[in-house]
Amino acid sequence: MKSLLYLIAVLVLTTPVFAQEWDPVLTEKWTPVPAIVTPGAGTAAPSDALVLFDGSGLGSWESMKGGDAKWLVSDGVMTVAAGTGDIRTKKLFGDVQLHIEWRTPAKVEGDGQGRGNSGVFFHEVYEVQVLDSYNSVTYSNGQAGSIYKQYIPLVNASKGPGEWQTYDIVFQSPVFAEDGEVVRKAIVTVFHNGVLIQNHVELTGHTPYTGLPKYEPHGKGAIKLQDHGNPMSFRNVWIREL
Ligand code: MG
Repeated sequence: MKSLLYLIAVLVLTTPVFAQEWDPVLTEKWTPVPAIVTPGAGTAAPSDALVLFDGSGLGSWESMKGGDAKWLVSDGVMTVAAGTGDIRTKKLFGDVQLHIEWRTPAKVEGDGQGRGNSGVFFHEVYEVQVLDSYNSVTYSNGQAGSIYKQYIPLVNASKGPGEWQTYDIVFQSPVFAEDGEVVRKAIVTVFHNGVLIQNHVELTGHTPYTGLPKYEPHGKGAIKLQDHGNPMSFRNVWIREL
């Protein structure tokens, strides 16, 4: 009897006649109304973004070694001053959309991981690799756009040495229970020069150089940029909290 009623219901719901009689208003949602955001021109920050670097100074950043960030700023660009250490945002973030532009040295020096290496880290421990991967070989899960030693980029969308490149990254932070258990793993999507290279990948933990990824519970965290000893440059850095 039950299955007969179910069959009748399915027939009624799927008949074209019924579909025609369905009032389209019933499936419209009028609230909430999305906030109005004015898009930036080109890759400029949209109106609701927080600008982390507009070329004028490193006021939003600090050195991981303590004190002010000591990277060089000139012509609207910040460049790693080798040995001054990684820098991180003073403000802490959870889930974000990040736009950052980076440039590897025009003069190629070194190879593999030693050529144009830096990194964009979320919560200081989850790295989206920055590297000169243009006609340069290294392990695939360590090339530009890799989630370091976890996910190989879908394609290599690298531009050549000395050219400006973009990352647009959506980072969803991991969620931890009170006892430290991972309730939701970190999820990352990356566009490199407008090309999708990481599609909603689920991180297995942090991204260490040595050893295996693991999760340590944390709250909000800084965005960190890596001093790997190469004179890497960055510009137009903005972030939207999600
Ligand atoms: Mg790196």
